[in-house]
Amino acid sequence: MNRQCLICDSSAVLTRDAAKGLPLLVGLLDGAIKGAQRPHEGNGHTDLLSGLAAVAPASPEARKAAEDVVRFHFAGFDCLCLRCGALFDETGESKEGLSPG
Ligand SMILES: [Zn+2]
Repeated sequence: MNRQCLICDSSAVLTRDAAKGLPLLVGLLDGAIKGAQRPHEGNGHTDLLSGLAAVAPASPEARKAAEDVVRFHFAGFDCLCLRCGALFDETGESKEGLSPG
C-alpha cells in the first residue's frame, strides 16, 4: 500500500481518505480541549468529562471541515504529495469504464 509521488518519488503521500480524518481528529481534539479548559468546579475527572461532552457538538463542524479539506486541497484527485504538493490519482488500481476503448 506504499504510494509514491509521481513527481518526486517521495513516499510522503497523503491520500484523500486519510486527509478526511485529520481535520476530524483535530476538530474533535479541539472540542475536547476547549471543554476541559472551561471553568468548572470539581476535580480533574469532571473536567475530563466536560471535555468529552464538548466533543459531540464539535463533530458536525469537524466533518464539514473535513469535506472542505478534500474539496479545496485535493480538487478531485486521490493523492497529495506532502513534499512537493503534487496532486495525482492513484495509479496502482486501474479504473475501468472511463475510456471508451
Ligand atoms: Zn512529490
